[in-house]
Amino acid sequence: HPALFHAVETKQPVVALFVITPKQHQIHGEAPQKMEFIKAHVKDTCDRLKELNIPSIIKVIPTFAEMPELFQELIDTLSIEQVFFHHSYWVNEINRDQAVIEVLENNGIKVHQYHSNYLLPPGTVRKDDGKMYHVFTPYKNKFIEQLKQLYTAPLPIPEACDVVSVIDVKSYDMNVKFELNQWPVGEKAVNNILKSFLQGIDYKKERNFPSIDGTSRLSPYLALGVIGARQCLAHALKQQGEDAFYSTWVSELIWRDFYNDLMYEYPKLAMHQTFKSDAKDEWLKQDDLFELWKQGQTGFPLIDAGMRQLLNEGWMHNRVRMVVASFLSKLCLIDWRLGEAHFMAYLLDGDLASNNGGWQWSSATGCDAAPYFRIFNPIAQSKKFDPDGTYIRKYVPELNQLSAKVIHEPESETRKQCGYPEPMIDYKAARQQALDWFKS
Ligand code: FAD
Repeated sequence: HPALFHAVETKQPVVALFVITPKQHQIHGEAPQKMEFIKAHVKDTCDRLKELNIPSIIKVIPTFAEMPELFQELIDTLSIEQVFFHHSYWVNEINRDQAVIEVLENNGIKVHQYHSNYLLPPGTVRKDDGKMYHVFTPYKNKFIEQLKQLYTAPLPIPEACDVVSVIDVKSYDMNVKFELNQWPVGEKAVNNILKSFLQGIDYKKERNFPSIDGTSRLSPYLALGVIGARQCLAHALKQQGEDAFYSTWVSELIWRDFYNDLMYEYPKLAMHQTFKSDAKDEWLKQDDLFELWKQGQTGFPLIDAGMRQLLNEGWMHNRVRMVVASFLSKLCLIDWRLGEAHFMAYLLDGDLASNNGGWQWSSATGCDAAPYFRIFNPIAQSKKFDPDGTYIRKYVPELNQLSAKVIHEPESETRKQCGYPEPMIDYKAARQQALDWFKS
């Protein structure tokens, strides 16, 4: 945490400030569970900061708009000389920070901002003519080149402060109202997840199979900043040496940087606009199908398993995210923005840039997106990536007595017996409809 590290380096008393903005999270359509997850981590962080002799102030204000006023109040009550924090890169956050910086500077307070949470600051990797790449592979190649030159190991956790600030810390209700048993809390626990993932998993081989724990499941922690992408890279380098730069897993971390960099370069992406200005964008209104998709009642077992995993756990495996997103936007021709918002409303890892990137990739509207004619067949995907049906059985328990042979596409009679719906669309006809629609 560069901001924390450098603040402690000043040898002055340090106070940590957490500002919670519940209404802003609502406006951004973020999952209530994610807010609880944040609270759990703030609580853990406050405890760890106490060990460093750093008291924490937790402030709750409705939205980013009240932030300058809050800072003015703090300036009036505490003797603040310097403020240390990290850069944010999305439109509302940039505006928020700018407004706060203005208040601080007007009061003669020094401001120090650091890059954190991404492998490289957005804007670093550009073509020779200074423009942003629109294709991932050349971006990645240049990215790795620059990453190798610019990489510095993450800063250590600072020593405890000698001088302790005495402040009147009010306690807030930080009780977490969400069952987090699948998601350990705290940086130490998360570091352990990272270490055991890097030691134990053949990622390249296993990452596409949703019934296997073949991916890191670190996305919620990366989205919240509990762990940084450079920390992930540092561990991978320790484990695999320089090969880590070229590994499939680090390539996924670079996708995360890519989508963030795109949103930074093109703020319109944060405003519901398509990346491709000529993208087909008049979607069908099919409320009944959308509702069935959301509830995991489409009659396509893999789709329903994924959608129910999202509802129950606030997370979904990447392979299944791609299949359910292609299903909604291409086979049902439903506006990808509705899917994007539904994901955001449930995902613990809900991340404006990655979610938007994933949805625009799936719906053929985005940068370096899957072409419109690449339409996942939900049954073929199911047979290929959940061959014995383990994932389906876990999330669609009404099918758990079915054999691997029939579970992907049960006959009508079997569906009736299991209390499982008929497919809500005819795959072949829907595929043809999509091809005609995109071409028209
Ligand atoms: P791992 O496979 O272990 O990968 C490591 C990390 O790399 C992830 O934690 C994540 O931070 C990053 N990453 C991996 N794949 C991608 C990717 N395709 N794009 C961007 N970053 C990636 N990811 C989010 O973090 N938040 C979202 O809101 C989000 N929405 C998505 C929506 C759709 C429609 C799709 C297709 C993908 C979305 N993803 C999103 C990307 C991806 O599905 C998740 O990051 C991944 O499933 C997280 O699992 P993991 O931590 O085990 O990943």
